Amino acid sequence: MKALVYHGPGSKAWEDVPDAQVQEPTDVVVKVDTTTICGTDLHILQGDVAAVTDGRILGHEAVGTVTEVGDAVRGFSVGDRVLVPAITKCGRCEYCQRGIPSHCQTVGGIGWIFGHLIDGTQAEYVRVPYADTSLYAVPESVTNEQAIFLADSLPTGYEVGVLAGGVRPGDTVAVVGAGAVGLSAVLTTGLWGASKVIAIDSNKFRLERAIEFGATDAIEVGPGTVSDVVGLTDGLGVDVAIEAVGYPETLLTAASLVRPGGTIANVGVHGTPVELPMQDLWIANVKLTMGLVDTVSIPTLLKMVASGRIPAEKMGTHSFTFDQIDEAYDVFGNAAANLALKVVITP
Ligand SMILES: [Zn+2]
Ligand SMILES: [Zn+2]
Repeated sequence: MKALVYHGPGSKAWEDVPDAQVQEPTDVVVKVDTTTICGTDLHILQGDVAAVTDGRILGHEAVGTVTEVGDAVRGFSVGDRVLVPAITKCGRCEYCQRGIPSHCQTVGGIGWIFGHLIDGTQAEYVRVPYADTSLYAVPESVTNEQAIFLADSLPTGYEVGVLAGGVRPGDTVAVVGAGAVGLSAVLTTGLWGASKVIAIDSNKFRLERAIEFGATDAIEVGPGTVSDVVGLTDGLGVDVAIEAVGYPETLLTAASLVRPGGTIANVGVHGTPVELPMQDLWIANVKLTMGLVDTVSIPTLLKMVASGRIPAEKMGTHSFTFDQIDEAYDVFGNAAANLALKVVITP
């Protein structure tokens, strides 16, 4: 089979590799019908993720068809159309039982293993461990081009942004950063009855998409960003500020937007320390949440996509085939300039 193989910082190749096969009785093999690229894949290619070594097949998101089933698998059969999520869970360790499979101890202490600790989904076939507890059957009314975004970006915006932020009916919500994950938060914040969803970005294309995805207001980053956003509230700031970038300055922006008693939900992947104005935040009873996605909201999101409440397909702006995967990386790597959100990659 062919797959996208990592060969150290800045180097990858679509090349022949040994076929994926069942290794444990709890495994299945899935033929990848649709995959995509995540910002994390770009970090890996920059050499930021030391655990990913030369020879690893990249990718942690897929929709596909089961082609081989281990002896112990009960819930899936050959031919089933399945969603392969970013997080693998054994279902039995303490963290899985607490509903935090992002720290599944059985699969290596971190639920994100595809394209990280084991071979990933940017391939013609992928081996999926703990299939019964990790895979999701895709309802007939949900297309591959919708389901693919439920593997990582939509659950991340929803769980780490909207749910962790505790959005309630009537809340005002600011989303700092309207890339794929920020827009996923915008798409799902309305489900909790936010009265205002204010998207903040420096890119006009993303702000237009944010309005299309359900934001009530779009603010282009500038010297007056904070007062512009606070001016859209009752003067005290937003109830929930979702940070979806991962830079010190964007987290500080989120911190300066939140009202007393509000929540900062950090979704962004940070690479450096951040100095927070704790002298102001403590006395304002501000909560700060953060974390790696668990993908436990996938069944909910699948239902909402199936019923038409979440137009997940809107996340996909560009389509490529496997043999164009380098081009797909180039487009996604400069997403804002290319007017791209997420790419859809198929055989
Ligand atoms: Zn990802
Ligand atoms: Zn586990």
